[in-house]
Amino acid sequence: MQISNLGFPRIGRQRELKFAQERYWRGEITQAELERVAKSLRSTHWEWQAKAGVELLPVGDFAYYDQVLTLSATLNAIPTRHRSEGQADRVDLDTLFRVARGRAPTGGDATAAEMTKYFNTNYHYIVPELEADQSFTVAYEQIFDEVSEAQALGYKAKPVLLGPVSYLYLAKAVGSEFDKLSLLAELLKAYGAILARFAAQGVEWVQLEEPILALELDSDWQEAITSAYVALQQADIKVLLATYYGTIAHHQTLVSALPVSGLHLDLVTAPEQLALFAANLRDEQVLSLGVINGRNVWAADIDSIAQCINPVVNDLKGRVWIAPSCSLLHSPVDLDIETELAPALRLQLSFAKQKLSELAQLKTLLITPESSSVKAEVEAIKASCAARRNARAEAADNQVNERVAALSCDNYERDSVFSARQTLQQQKYQLPLLPTTTIGSFPQTPAIRGLRSRWRKGEITETFYNDQLRQVTKDTVDRQLKLGIDVLVHGEAERNDMVEYFGEQLQGVGFTQFGWVQSYGSRCVKPPLIYGDVSRPKPMTVDWATYAQSLTDKPMKGMLTGPVTILHWSFAREDISREQIATQIGLAIRDEVVDLQNVGIGIIQIDEPAFREGLPLKRSDWDAYLKWAVDAFKLSAAGVSDETQIHTHMCYSEFNETIEAIAAMDADVITIETSRSRMELLTAFEDFEYPNEIGPGVYDIHTPNTPTVDEMVTLIEKAAHKIPVRQLWVNPDCGLKTRTWDEVEPALQNLVEATKVLRRRL
Ligand code: GLN
Ligand code: ZN
Repeated sequence: MQISNLGFPRIGRQRELKFAQERYWRGEITQAELERVAKSLRSTHWEWQAKAGVELLPVGDFAYYDQVLTLSATLNAIPTRHRSEGQADRVDLDTLFRVARGRAPTGGDATAAEMTKYFNTNYHYIVPELEADQSFTVAYEQIFDEVSEAQALGYKAKPVLLGPVSYLYLAKAVGSEFDKLSLLAELLKAYGAILARFAAQGVEWVQLEEPILALELDSDWQEAITSAYVALQQADIKVLLATYYGTIAHHQTLVSALPVSGLHLDLVTAPEQLALFAANLRDEQVLSLGVINGRNVWAADIDSIAQCINPVVNDLKGRVWIAPSCSLLHSPVDLDIETELAPALRLQLSFAKQKLSELAQLKTLLITPESSSVKAEVEAIKASCAARRNARAEAADNQVNERVAALSCDNYERDSVFSARQTLQQQKYQLPLLPTTTIGSFPQTPAIRGLRSRWRKGEITETFYNDQLRQVTKDTVDRQLKLGIDVLVHGEAERNDMVEYFGEQLQGVGFTQFGWVQSYGSRCVKPPLIYGDVSRPKPMTVDWATYAQSLTDKPMKGMLTGPVTILHWSFAREDISREQIATQIGLAIRDEVVDLQNVGIGIIQIDEPAFREGLPLKRSDWDAYLKWAVDAFKLSAAGVSDETQIHTHMCYSEFNETIEAIAAMDADVITIETSRSRMELLTAFEDFEYPNEIGPGVYDIHTPNTPTVDEMVTLIEKAAHKIPVRQLWVNPDCGLKTRTWDEVEPALQNLVEATKVLRRRL
């Protein structure tokens, strides 16, 4: 039985790659120096994997920006605007950076290619741009060089690549409109050439990933899978077809018939696939069991995994590989360098490097459980699994569980229906037509960030830090008053991140020092760890809200992050369902909402920007998700009286398919991002006759440009054609923390002015 790995994080355990990339982009180091850092990371990561017993080392999981972009370069599928001069059939590293970032140390600037989330992960890939007459040739040598590099170190290399059909599926057709599948034949020739190069390098196995198999596919895409793997059979190399992030059981007949030498399944998200595919495996095929979660931080229960897969392992004998569920790209790198974790939490954790050891332990349990030489080791493994189970049981918070168990339908509903609430809220606040507001954050200036880092390092006292932040808050409120905004915010200067800020104050949520995961390019995130039952020991935002409200008679909006977003942007425990976790967080936020109301904050916003991201890969699973996600939000919002106005905010660009759920959330006001679509996104609300109030963003906060009065007047008028004007609010698309005051003030001035123009007109 082989220990296999699909891919290892490339960033380095101290984010070495990030720092080298950024220094290179700033012109502080040469390309050769960047490449040296990259090379040393690869060799360290291979060494760790080899030591853990991985025999075929993944090559091609390293990327200078993104592995999909590297593949586009390899295939010569690079937009003309980014090419280096005179290089039609070669791609160099700076070209790759120009595609990703719009600029590089050499060559002219050009608009960067789009980037979007890779399936349901928080990893972003660079969307390939393909034209109707796109040709593909091998134009970039990185992966071949890396194969040689691994071989020179004495390793057996297994190149890993996104498969041709998923590559096409994720790409975007540009220029004229055409069917992307018309490019498949050409693309397959290039894949054939790549595989032939690998074969010539002495490679035995290549891993081709087709994650789209976890989706429901139209028949033409299903047929494409078959024709692709039939065509690639020509190459003198064994293909491991890898799938992940979800079940592919709905494509079982198709997949089992493919002429591939091995199949990898994600058995963490879908363990039920095992029996189905094992029964249909051909004699010459290998089955790779993805049993260690590649997307989370928790130590696996190796003992029970071993029991689960033991029958199949015995049946298939040497034809079983054990592996993480997906590439370890989505896990932090190394638990060993964490020095400040509570022992009871540390015990529960396993990062990428530790997950490799778990595979080694699993192998021990599977193949030699009775042999006396490893008996002690086996006992130790079992004991630590049991210790973890005990630690979890001991940490359970009965109060939280009793509260969840006691919930009834009433807890999810406001006292009255929206129309009745609207009347009461209107009487209370007497807001003008088209009330103006912002989404919450105001510029996080270098001064604020510097202050926070000095406070974290202990260089300034908490009192001093808070005093300074109070001054920032006062300044933020003063500026809004001067601008004439109707519903104010305190500005979120005290928050580093909208999830971390709450995570740090919630019971049952922990933090690491170095638990970074790549989000895109050199950008990494460090998600909180939801390890136990979640509760709120004390108010989290009440002091800031009270202080801000004390500065003005105008309504001050309380600002919270919603349960679905907190859950989705954290590493969540796996011993209870996501629905249960969301319910617990919903209760914690509900307590905060009620406390805010009780100190006189009558307008409270519960942000849910990650609401849509949580949607499952298969549409047939959407309803179940939407049901509990909507419920968690409603639970957080429904503890207040009718007069209290609940806002929510979502900044994504697709409401058509979820509008019913959005309406079911029953927020009194929802603010959304609409300026870039020029209000097109409002159509979903219009068609649905969405009854509650809406603030469609009229100011694109992603650019430094100042929107003019006229532009915003036009946008608001467009909105008013779709939604009755009494229901409309006027606000930017999203928070303003990434902008400067020089940008924000004139933009908001114009926003207020545009509103005045329309109030006179309407
Ligand atoms: N209130 C948050 C802010 O203004 C919302 C951020 C978001 O939607 N991502 O920054
Ligand atoms: Zn937003």
